[in-house]
Amino acid sequence: MSQYQLRHAGVTDTGNVRAVNQDWLLTEGDLAAVADGMGGRSGGEVASRLAVDTLREAFAADPTATGLAEAVRRANAAVWAHAEAHPDLAGMGTTIAAVARVSEGGDDRLAVVNVGDSRAYLLQDGRLTRLTADHSLVADLVRAGALSEDEARTHPERHVLTLAVGVGPDVEPHTVEAVPTPGDRLLLCSDGLFNELPDDEITAVLAAVADPAEAATRLVERANEAGGHDNITAVVLDVVTR
Ligand code: MN
Repeated sequence: MSQYQLRHAGVTDTGNVRAVNQDWLLTEGDLAAVADGMGGRSGGEVASRLAVDTLREAFAADPTATGLAEAVRRANAAVWAHAEAHPDLAGMGTTIAAVARVSEGGDDRLAVVNVGDSRAYLLQDGRLTRLTADHSLVADLVRAGALSEDEARTHPERHVLTLAVGVGPDVEPHTVEAVPTPGDRLLLCSDGLFNELPDDEITAVLAAVADPAEAATRLVERANEAGGHDNITAVVLDVVTR
């Protein structure tokens, strides 16, 4: 029997500069996800929506940590197949970051997966930590010690991904698990949020605004006030006792 549930709410916004919103989100039961699509014509929108829809269906069939990772592989296969069948959408792809409450041997766990540079953060005891690992050029440079996190946020090549969903026949997501504690708050977001707001601003909003929907709204407002150069998506999830 599960001990916890997720109280979640999400907001997605086109931002101040882009003509269309290629981000997409899901908040449903034990699962939440953010996807940031890319590709000309309608490719970006198609990729992010198809990936999230496929993830939801696949996770529902196997709601476990391994099932969540497999759901990302299914999402990849679905987007890749759709691009093969629709040459005008060739090259489309999407990031994905997802968190799910899963049960393992009677204990609840939070399973987290990502491909690309959409992120999951955990706010615990007022401290913000990142659970995901970006697949991006600037993330490789940060890991190599060649760039700081702040430099990465404004680097001209910050949008270059080293891995994405749907651009090849196979993908292997980054996975991590966390032990949930009542009071934990998680954030899923696209790069349009964290490239506009440094971690301390994200932390301040998450700590100050109790309601998940209001917190997500406030984060998107702040990112727009900071420029809104990209599509912005924020999903806020609170771990609560069932
Ligand atoms: Mn983006």
